[in-house]
Amino acid sequence: MGAAGFVLAINIFVAGLFAAAFGTIAWRNGAATGARWLAAAYLLGVLNAMLEYILPGQNDPRLLGIVVFAVALSAFLICVIGLARHYAIAVPWAWLALLGGGGLLANTILINEPATATLGRALIYQLPYFFAHILGAIVVMRARRRGALDLLLIGFLLVSGLQFVAKPFLAIGLGDAGVENYLHSLYGAWSQMLTAFLLVSNGVLMLLIIVRDVMAEITLRSETDKLSGLLNRRGFEERAERALQQAGRAGIPAALVLADLDHFKQVNDNFGHDAGDRVIAAFAGLLSGGADIRMVLGRHGGEEFAILVPGANLASARLYAEGVRQAFAALSGADLGIERRLSASFGVTQMQPGEGLHDLVHRADAALYAAKKAGRDRVHTADVEPVATDSRKSG
Ligand code: GH3
Ligand code: MG
Ligand code: MG
Repeated sequence: MGAAGFVLAINIFVAGLFAAAFGTIAWRNGAATGARWLAAAYLLGVLNAMLEYILPGQNDPRLLGIVVFAVALSAFLICVIGLARHYAIAVPWAWLALLGGGGLLANTILINEPATATLGRALIYQLPYFFAHILGAIVVMRARRRGALDLLLIGFLLVSGLQFVAKPFLAIGLGDAGVENYLHSLYGAWSQMLTAFLLVSNGVLMLLIIVRDVMAEITLRSETDKLSGLLNRRGFEERAERALQQAGRAGIPAALVLADLDHFKQVNDNFGHDAGDRVIAAFAGLLSGGADIRMVLGRHGGEEFAILVPGANLASARLYAEGVRQAFAALSGADLGIERRLSASFGVTQMQPGEGLHDLVHRADAALYAAKKAGRDRVHTADVEPVATDSRKSG
C-alpha cells in the first residue's frame, strides 16, 4: 500500500470516529438535529473512502468513479444541512439541489473523460465540492450569534473549498499518475493528506461548536422554570449574584424586588390548580413585560418571585414593582378562568456597599412581610441608607 492508501485508511477511521461522536450527541440529545445530519455526512465519508480504496482496482472505473463522486458530494451537502439545522438557518434546498444535480449531471456527461484528463475536466469535477464548502461557510456566516469557534469554522470551510480548486493544479505540479496508480502517487498522497487535515479540522470544530451549544442549552434548561419561563431559584441565585458583583465593581446601584401573590391558596382551592398555574404564568408575563434586558427575573418559590434590577435605586425599583402591581390588579380574572380580583404584594430594597444577594433577600423579605401585614396589594420598601451612584472607593 502506498502513502496515499495509508492516509486513506486513516481517513476511513477518522471519519468513522466523527460519525460516532456526532451520532452519540444526536442520540443523547433529541434537540441536537444538526448532529444527526453531521453523523450521516461522516458515515457517507466512511463509505466514500472505502469506495476510493477499491476504485483503482477496477477494470472500468467509470461508473464507480461517478458513485464515489456522488457519495462525497452528498456528504458535503448533508454537512451543509446539518450546519443550517444547528444554526437554525433556513436550509438552502434550492442551492443544494442545484449543486447536487448539476455536479452529478456534468460528471455523468463527461463519464468517458477521466476526472484528471485535463485541467478543465478536473475543475468540473472539483467545483461542486468547492461550492458545497462555500455554501457551508455562508450558512455559518448567516448565524445570529457567532463566537471565535464559528469564525474559525468559516475560515476552515473557505480553505477547504479552495483546496478543491487547487487540487487540479497540484496534480499538474506533482504529476498525476492517473486513477490506476492513484494510491501510489505523490499527488495521491498529498491530496489525501490535505483532505485528512481539513477533515479533522472541520470535524473537530463542528464537534466543539455542537458540544458548546448543547451544553449551553442544557444549562439554560436546568436553570429555567417551565411554567413561568423565568429562571428557577438556582438559576436566579447564580445570575443575580453575578449581576450584583458586577454592579458593585462598576459602582452602580442595584435593587431587589420580591413579589408574592396574595391569598393564592384560595385561588387554588376555589378555581383549581390549573387556574392557579395560569395565574402564575400571567404574573410572570407581567414581570417580563415591564422588565429591561439587564434585569434578572426568577421564580423564587411556588408563587414567589424575585427580580434583581441592576442600575436601579430604591425609587426606580419601586416604580417597576408598582407598575406590575397595578397591571396585575387590572388583569381580568375572567380571562384566566377566575372570578375574583387578583393582587400581589411586593418588598423592595437597595444594595448597600459590600452586600451579597442573601442580605438583599433578607431585607426585601421583611418589607414584603410588612406589605402583607399592612393589608396586601401594595409595595413596601426596606429603609436603607441612600446609596450615592458613585460609591466606589478610589484605589
Ligand atoms: P398570602 O397572601 O399570605 O401569600 O397567602 P397565600 O395563600 O398566597 O400563601 P400560602 O403560602 O399559604 O400559599 C401559597 C400557595 O401557592 C400554596 C401552594 O399550593 C400554591 N402553589 C405553589 N406552587 C404552585 C404552583 O406551581 N401552581 C399552583 N397552582 N399553585 C402553587
Ligand atoms: Mg402568597
Ligand atoms: Mg408565598
